[in-house]
Amino acid sequence: MSTPNVRPLAAGNWKMNGSRQMTADLIAGLVARAGAGLAADVLVCPPFPYIPAALTAVAGSGIAVGGQDCHAKPAGAHTGDVAAVMLADLGCRYVILGHSERRTDHGESSAQVAAKTSAALAAGLTAIVCIGETELQRDRGETLKIVENQIVESLPAGVTAANLVVAYEPVWAIGTGRTPTTADVAAVHAHIRKLLQARLADGGAVRVLYGGSVKPANAAELMAVPEVNGALVGGASLKADDFWAIAAACK
Ligand code: PEP
Repeated sequence: MSTPNVRPLAAGNWKMNGSRQMTADLIAGLVARAGAGLAADVLVCPPFPYIPAALTAVAGSGIAVGGQDCHAKPAGAHTGDVAAVMLADLGCRYVILGHSERRTDHGESSAQVAAKTSAALAAGLTAIVCIGETELQRDRGETLKIVENQIVESLPAGVTAANLVVAYEPVWAIGTGRTPTTADVAAVHAHIRKLLQARLADGGAVRVLYGGSVKPANAAELMAVPEVNGALVGGASLKADDFWAIAAACK
């Protein structure tokens, strides 16, 4: 549900999916729907190799393009990595950081996420910082504490509502088809908002997304939860119809 003066964001995380053809087809499908008076901003985050084609394809549509990760350093001997300044140089406006798959697959700590977030800010990007508890942590009743620790440790100095988006993604809900109850989402988002307001002068205006098995069928219900300011969408962002239906539910 819209927080006053907060424009929602519908962000598509393609993860390691796509091809040149798929990028062309999916973005053409989104661009064909763009301009129809959505209440939300729309963002696609393809794998690095497809970002230039995506940027060309979205031109003039208002749809933004972002990366799925960046390095904390602006340049240097870091084989296989991509710097935030490179994403900005291409024309990206956002970068997803600290996704649970990065934290798990690459052992990324919150301190590393904070360093990457600083790099993103320095490059002029908006950082989408992901946080969320595992199923075990939830079962132990630790959700609010885990989320709080991740906020404290993953957000560097200098974040503001203009350069930060927080994505609450329960790890056990990502790609599983399972979602928390709306009451659970409301409790976590209220806690995140309280933490952001305590830490940032404009913490009330930071966009806080929900992510984890958002589909057209559950988007309206999830997006109506207080302090939910949009969605970070994985699987359903790979189909233009589905992603656009979710974006339309972000109000
Ligand atoms: C994600 O990857 O951030 C995500 C939320 O995935 P899915 O929508 O597939 O659960």
